[in-house]
Amino acid sequence: MPFARCYMCKNMCGIITTVEGKTVRVSPNKNHPQPGICGRGAAGPYLLNHPDRLKSPLIRKGDKLVPTDWDTALNEVVKVLKELRDEGHPEYLAITFHDYGKEILERFANLYGTPNLIGHESVCHGPRTVAAQLVLGAEGPRSIDPDYPNSKFVVFIGRNPLEGIVPDIVRRIDEGRKKGLKIAVIDPRKSAIAQRYADRWIPIKPGSDTAFLLSVIYYMIRKGMYDEDFLRKYSNAGLIIYEDDLTPTGEYSDNLLYEGVKDGRKVATAFKLLEKEGEKVYPRLKDVTGATYDDVEYIAENLWENRPSAAIDDGWHTSFSIDSTYTWMSAFIINAMIANIDRKGGLVFAKKPKVKLYDVSNVKAKKIDKIRYPLTYAAFQEVYRAILTGNPYPIKVLFVVGTNLDGRDPNSELVRRALEKVYLVVVDVMPSEVTEYAEVVLAESTYFERDELPLPVGWSLDGWIDIHQKTIEPIYDTRSLTWIMLELEHRLGLSNETFEDLKKRVLSQLKVDEKELYEKGCVKVYQGDIYEVYPYKERLNTPSGKIEIYSETLKKYGYYPIPTYIEKNIAPRDIDEFYLVSGHTLYHTQDSITFDIPTLIRIQPDNPVMINSKRAQALGIKDNDEVEVISLTTGAKVKCKVKVTDAIREDTVFTYFGFGRHAKGERFAYGHGFDVNSLISDQITDPISGSIAQSLNIVKIRKIVM
Ligand code: SF4
Repeated sequence: MPFARCYMCKNMCGIITTVEGKTVRVSPNKNHPQPGICGRGAAGPYLLNHPDRLKSPLIRKGDKLVPTDWDTALNEVVKVLKELRDEGHPEYLAITFHDYGKEILERFANLYGTPNLIGHESVCHGPRTVAAQLVLGAEGPRSIDPDYPNSKFVVFIGRNPLEGIVPDIVRRIDEGRKKGLKIAVIDPRKSAIAQRYADRWIPIKPGSDTAFLLSVIYYMIRKGMYDEDFLRKYSNAGLIIYEDDLTPTGEYSDNLLYEGVKDGRKVATAFKLLEKEGEKVYPRLKDVTGATYDDVEYIAENLWENRPSAAIDDGWHTSFSIDSTYTWMSAFIINAMIANIDRKGGLVFAKKPKVKLYDVSNVKAKKIDKIRYPLTYAAFQEVYRAILTGNPYPIKVLFVVGTNLDGRDPNSELVRRALEKVYLVVVDVMPSEVTEYAEVVLAESTYFERDELPLPVGWSLDGWIDIHQKTIEPIYDTRSLTWIMLELEHRLGLSNETFEDLKKRVLSQLKVDEKELYEKGCVKVYQGDIYEVYPYKERLNTPSGKIEIYSETLKKYGYYPIPTYIEKNIAPRDIDEFYLVSGHTLYHTQDSITFDIPTLIRIQPDNPVMINSKRAQALGIKDNDEVEVISLTTGAKVKCKVKVTDAIREDTVFTYFGFGRHAKGERFAYGHGFDVNSLISDQITDPISGSIAQSLNIVKIRKIVM
């Protein structure tokens, strides 16, 4: 009975697979720290005999992709990659992916010499991840998470774990609810988590999150709702700053709200300066955010009364606005104010083991997105720009691994132009819009047909490693991503390591017994304390080693070093204009694998625009009417159905992303829904994280009169 991970999305839940006759079945692995399975996962076995799946490598002949053998396909890719290396520019290769395959792709990129392994984060968790690094020194995604089962109050900002689902997170929230966990949701839409769980739903204006959180900070400081001892000891709240140029004096004050004069210049502590940022927006709370003072008090008082077993959730889909990094910095600072960091029921550092599959890096060039956004985690729109303009340097070859850029990235028109121009190699199980632009397609085996390396479990707080074993031999002429990348390494002369060699690397790094791991399927490798490690026993990975309310890194790179609200001049100005916001459906990912599954597309066949009932009435629009949606930022127009609801602000419309499939190879998904990315600009970004301000796009809605 193979132990496996579900790869229907990027969460990689623990499952068990069985074969009965010709049928493969999946069930949750109850002994796994992150057990599956959700509706998408349950549909996974359909992939095996899916009529559309990629059944062999393909190579472009004129305007057609034709089947070929692995030698021909790989040699073609190797020829192109060798040319770049011989030119002395391995950095002209970019690789993009969506979490899956990170370790093996990181290895390949470093051995080959390109820094440009760039994921999807600028449309997802980029701002939250950059803010977590700046304030807490936390490493990358999934490195911190609320301890939901032991928490008494959690605030979700724009995150909706019931649709952007990880089954185990839902289970942990449920466990907390059984013990009395209260939940508040801040979101312009009454999302599934707001409908099912929220004790309070606060429908703030899109793009006003920073103003709301700074107002909470201001209220809490004025009411003395902060743990002075904790902040004094573990944060730079008391760091004294020159107010004229916001440089630090290097001195600390015990009085966290100290103001004075030094060297003839006005000075104040970082905490006092933060209070002043709150003071700038608090009097305008209603105008700027649409929230009430009672909302601010509710959040502040519940966090304070339940401290330290309370948290502002660390968010996930956070690329909303031009100040989203400051939103998440504010959220982490509020968490620190109630001293919940790494405490039971608070915001806990995942004690996750790390693996690295390579020893030396041949990377010499600067990562292309870091040239414009030095602090970004990933800003893939810079790759499109480089393909089309050659600036800041050209990207000539693009590898797309298991992700559909057409469904993922804003400004679809730009995406398509770039894909037409670049030499494109796609590795995937299913065809998608991206496959149609490829020069070479490397057909990947489904997760039932491939072995994977042992890896750390993504969403567990207490340090586990798991395995993934194949259920059956590949049905078609397909290979695993690991095999493909190792084969490219060998043919390029970069290494002669095998799958078994890489497995040994992982097992020796994590000091895990192979026999035990393969018998149990997953093993806990971290044996230390779960709570009260960071910053109590271990320094944080920030320049000061402390929680940074004043960010030395932001200052060094020329940014405003304390969270501040940035005024926006983008807003709907007429009765038929709306903020456009988007999110996850429960049944699909924005990648290539779910939309073309008949059961899933039947359950969620399209993405109507959700519009508030009062505004719909004013515009003469009824449920299911067809409307035209025109983006005032990109100029694109789409037609779609309307869902009239009370569960959204009057000035905002919502839809699910990933729809609008137009690849002929996807027979079940073809023609379903519309592409929200065509309505979203890639030009409005958060200058710190480089993430796309997806909630700052205004659309006009017009009823189509037949
Ligand atoms: S969330 Fe669902 S689809 Fe994603 S890995 Fe887990 S079970 Fe599979």
